[in-house]
This record gives sequence, C-alpha cells and structure tokens, in this order.
Amino acid sequence: MDKLTKDTVLNALKPVAHALARTVEDLVSSVAIEGGNVGLVIDFKDRPPQNPDDVRIDVEEIIKNLDGVFEASVVMTAARAAAPKPANPPEMKPAGKSEIPAPSPIEGVKNIIAVGSGKGGVGKSTTAINIAIALSEQGLSVGVLDADIFGPSLPKLLGIEGTKPQSKDGKIIPVEVMGLKVMSIGLMLANDDPIIWRGPQVMRATGQLLSDVAWGTLDVLVVDLPPGTGDVQLTLVQKVPLTGAIIVSTPQDLALIDARKGLQMFRKVGTPIIGIIENMSFFTCPKCGEQSDIFGHGGARDAAIDLGADFLGEIPLHMSVRAGSDAGNPVVRAAPLSKHAAIYNDIAEKIAGKLDV
Ligand code: ADP
Repeated sequence: MDKLTKDTVLNALKPVAHALARTVEDLVSSVAIEGGNVGLVIDFKDRPPQNPDDVRIDVEEIIKNLDGVFEASVVMTAARAAAPKPANPPEMKPAGKSEIPAPSPIEGVKNIIAVGSGKGGVGKSTTAINIAIALSEQGLSVGVLDADIFGPSLPKLLGIEGTKPQSKDGKIIPVEVMGLKVMSIGLMLANDDPIIWRGPQVMRATGQLLSDVAWGTLDVLVVDLPPGTGDVQLTLVQKVPLTGAIIVSTPQDLALIDARKGLQMFRKVGTPIIGIIENMSFFTCPKCGEQSDIFGHGGARDAAIDLGADFLGEIPLHMSVRAGSDAGNPVVRAAPLSKHAAIYNDIAEKIAGKLDV
C-alpha cells in the first residue's frame, strides 16, 4: 500500500478542482494527515460555488476512499469580499473631536461589544455566537445583533431561518433562542433576496437594527460585524458607545494584515480593543488527539503582543465546531462539556471580566 501523503490527497482532488475551474493547489489551502485521519481546508476564496456542501460531500467521499484513510474532516471557507468602502467616507475623527453627534447608549443595554474580522470566512460569526452563548451561560443577559447585512449567517447558525420577528409599538421584538435575544437582517428578508445595498441604505439599516429593536434589559449586546472596515462599522461607532471590539483572525498572514487594519480602525475612533482571538488555530486529529498547525499557529498571538492588544485565546479547527454551526446548534450548546466548549467559555470569561456589569 502506498504511503498516504499530501500529494496523494491533492492528486485525488484534482477532478473536483477542475470541475470548479481551479487548480487543486488553489482550491485546497491546507492538508493535515495524522495516522489515517485527513483534515483539509477548502478555500473557495471569492468564488464560492452555488452548493458548497455538495463539494464537501464529494471531497469527503474521495478522501475516505483513499487507501489508508479512516476519517476525513473537511472545512470550507470563502473569503467573502469585505464590505464595500463608503463612497464618501465621513472622516474618521478621533473620539471627542467629531462634529457628528456623540454616540448615545441603547436604553437598558449595559455593554455593547463588536466582533469584527479583517476578511470573511475566518469564523467570526461562529466565534461570536459561541461566545454569546457562553456569556449567557455564565449568567449574563445577552443579545446578539447580526449586523453582517451583506451575508447574515446568524439565523442559520442558531437554526432559526424563516422565523419572522414580531413588532410591538413600532419596535421589532428580537427572537429569543438558546437564552439569547437575537436580531438579524436575515430574519427580515426572504431567503433569496439579493442584498445589493449602497452606502446610505447600509447606514440606515444598521442604525435601525440598533435603535428600532426592543432589546429590553441586557448586560451585553454582541454585534457580529461584516468583515473589513466599511459603512456598518462606521455607523456603529458613530451611533452607540462601544464597550470594546474583538477581532477574530486565522493565523494566516493575509488575514492578520487585514485584522490589523480592523483593529487600527477601532483604535482610531477611540473604541477600546477587548482583544484578539485566533480561530482555526490548529488541527487536532479526531482519533489520536495529535495537533498540527495547518495554518501556521500563533500568528494572532504574536500580532496581539505586537499591537499591544490582549490575546483572548485560540480555537482549534475542529469538525464539532463546523458541524454545530451547520446544524444550527453551536458547539458550546451542543457539547457543553467538550474541550471546545471549554475554550469558548474561557474566552467568554476573559471578555466578561472587561465588561461593566
Ligand atoms: P465568517 O463569519 O468569518 O465569514 P463563519 O463563522 O461563517 O465565518 O465560518 C466560516 C466556515 O468555517 C463555516 O463553515 C464554519 O462552520 C467554519 N468554522 C469556523 N470556525 C471553525 C473552527 N474553529 N473549526 C471548524 N470549522 C470552523
């Protein structure tokens, strides 16, 4: 039997790559082989196919059929384009020196934290929702606002697609699920609505999601931002006082460069940085527990030190994280006693320590 190598895996996946009009090197960003377990990352970059899950099923099937393979773990990511830059960006002035009206708090909401990332597909939404659930399980009352109006994913992550929020006295009532109060533009739109919004619409929609929702009393509102530094981020920092921002990044250099930009944007407007989280930090073999650094582990920790920001923790690339997201049951809730839930809980504790509750 031939030894199972990275080349064997890549060769076997060539037909899948070619069917997507790409080279296999372009499509498969990382391969890890531990014993008979293969983990790989498919990176669709800015060209995700219509049915990414079909691709994953094909890839898993092909890998499992290779000699010497017991298990295949496939994670897909796509570098969704960052939100468009504002056409006429209002000048980002340091906090306190702006002529724009000062941000005003949302009544009843003690803390607002923003979760951002430099680019899409780094696992920002997955991280935001698991942390929100962890905060809630630590006894805080938590709301989640999916402000990623270009690609709202919270309804899917929480298994509430198709739920229509009610309204009362001119305010939208957030949907209550898994102990959280949740609002997403994705709950207001029909599934196949194309979201082609321009700057002013984006700003208006974001403003409404902040001010027209009856959040009630919350210890913390977690805002899941679109990737990059665009209109939503601008509106947020202008409209409401943020307790702080969290940046999620994979260890890859490119993501880190983008993440640094995101962090600098918050610094420039005087938003405190709560810290940086490294996601897809390393791959743990599901059978033997062996750890391999398929993305070059530790980049975000180094960047955090370099930037004088706190490093909040590292989350491994693991099937249970992806499976939980896909099934609408995030891992912190689906497997509360798992190692992965413990990592999110630990990060949530660090964040809670920085809140004013
Ligand atoms: P973003 O919000 O940055 O665009 P998502 O949270 O939608 O990213 O995650 C992109 C994909 O990566 C999803 O399929 C998600 O399930 C998966 N994913 C995120 N974090 C992990 C992880 N730590 N391990 C495995 N899969 C992950």
